[in-house]
This record gives sequence, C-alpha cells and structure tokens, in this order.
Amino acid sequence: MQEMIEIRWHGRGGQGVVTAARLLAEAAMEAGYFIQAFPDYGPERSGAPIRAYTRLSRSPISLHSPVKAPDLVIVLDETLLGDPSLLEGLKPDGWLIVNSALPPEFVRRRVGGYKGHLALLDATRIALEVLRRNLPNTPLLGALARLTGLFSLEDLTRHIRHHLAAKFGEDVVRANLEAVRRGFEEVRIDPGQASPGERPIEVPSGGMALPWFELPRGGLILDAGNAIAYRTGDWRTFRPVVEMEKCTHCLYCWLYCPDDAIRVAGGQFLGFDEAHCKGCGICAAVCPPKAIIMVEESRVVAAV
Ligand code: SF4
Ligand code: SF4
Repeated sequence: MQEMIEIRWHGRGGQGVVTAARLLAEAAMEAGYFIQAFPDYGPERSGAPIRAYTRLSRSPISLHSPVKAPDLVIVLDETLLGDPSLLEGLKPDGWLIVNSALPPEFVRRRVGGYKGHLALLDATRIALEVLRRNLPNTPLLGALARLTGLFSLEDLTRHIRHHLAAKFGEDVVRANLEAVRRGFEEVRIDPGQASPGERPIEVPSGGMALPWFELPRGGLILDAGNAIAYRTGDWRTFRPVVEMEKCTHCLYCWLYCPDDAIRVAGGQFLGFDEAHCKGCGICAAVCPPKAIIMVEESRVVAAV
C-alpha cells in the first residue's frame, strides 16, 4: 500500500461532510494510521457547498495544506457534479465516489466526460430510509470501508458506535450502524471506461449569470442589494413541488420563504423561482392545506 492516502470530500452544509472526514480519520487511526481531518468552508450555512480533507499515512504527516492531489474524491451531493473543480488534481488511478442513484453514464457526463474509476452509492436513499434524515455521510463511510480496505466493517462500526454512544441514544446508534452496513453492501463499482491518465474534462457551461463556484471564497458579494446574485438554487438537494388544485393562494409560503423564491402576481401564487429556491422546505412546512411537498432534486434531474 502507498505511504499516504489523501481524500477530498465535497458536500453541502448539514450533510455531515466534516463529521465524515473526521470519523474516517479516527477509524483509520485505530487501524494504525497517522491522520489529519479538517474542513474548508466560508460562512457555515445549511446547503452551502463545503469541502473537507482527510489524510492517512503510515508515517507522521508534515503537510498541512488542503488536499490538492487526492487519491479519492467523495461527493455527498450530486448537485455538485457540475463543479469544474471537483476532479481538480485527482490522481490518474484515483477514485471518484458519488452519492447518487443516477446511472453511471449520466454521472460521467455530468462530470464532463470523466473516464476514471467510479463508484456510486444511493446514500441519500439509505439515509432517508434508515435515519429519516438526509445524512449521507455514514452510508458513504461503509462504502469506503468496502472500497479501500482501510479497515474492516466491524472495526468501522465499533468506532462509530463508540463515537455516537457518547451523544445519542441506542436507537440513533443502531440506525447509523445499519446505514453503514447498507453502504458497505450496496456500493456499486462502475467498470465503465476506466482508463487511467485519460480524463478529458469539459467544464459544463450552465449559462448562469454568477454560479456559486465563481463566487469569492466565503461567498461574499460586497455590493449593496446583491441577494439576487446568489444563485442559492444551486444549493438545493430537495425541491418544493405544488399541487395547484390544493393551493388556496393564502401566500403563507411567500411570507415565510427566506430567499424570496415564491413567485406571486396579482395576489396569486404562481410557483417557485428555481434559481433562488434552496430547498429548505419552510414553504412546505407552513402551507396550511399541505399543497407543497418536498421532492429529492436528483429524482427531478434524472427525469429531465
Ligand atoms: S423550499 Fe420553499 S421556503 Fe425554502 S427557499 Fe424554496 S421556495 Fe423558499
Ligand atoms: S402556502 Fe400553500 S396554499 Fe398558501 S399560497 Fe403557498 S402553496 Fe398556496
């Protein structure tokens, strides 16, 4: 095995990205590795894109910079697949591991024609079924145990039990261990077109005025009256869908939406501003006749 393994995690605030980077490092430490795990994000906000890094080495680690040449890139949220920096520095024989239910060819296309090693896990589905929350981190840790052999499933579950038992009840611990086990068993390796060294990445052009990956670090736009420039629609992992026949046009959703993403004209509810709806679900929670439901973004993307 090589001396050092470097891992870069891409996800969104609230998905357990930083926890996953740390749990992986701690489990590896128990398996005898020297470790590092640290995040890289601006203002922490649910749904905001963030990165985290894990380094594992057989000898003390003197490097302290963010991971530039990862062996593994792990994507917790498939809405990030269009980020042109996703594969930045990924080693020719490295692996891309994506939380997705999409077919591998679709994922490869979304990453600009990626031809390297690819593994997929529908971690969101597992998390929703087992944890009742969109926390895809623990299923992905199970997938990592399977793909890397860094530690056994038993060692990983022992560590996660130890970590969670200090904060949560037995039900939560058991649900997380079930999520890890399912991640281990359900991860799919795409034999695809793996051809190390050949990775013609085309940057997908979304035609957006100011996509999030062009924002300055921290997402700051300093001009006044700038909210419209934040394409918070890129952050969405769930989207609201309305049953118009149930809508009474009470406009509670418009009143409560934190991103002004409800379209209204003449006192009538018209729909959602997809460029700015970040999928927080507040509109669904406050809608009196329950006319709005939240649907996984990936299902909608896959359907178009
Ligand atoms: S989910 Fe609803 S409340 Fe949240 S940003 Fe979108 S439209 Fe607004
Ligand atoms: S809160 Fe519900 S019923 Fe009221 S306008 Fe919005 S979608 Fe329609």
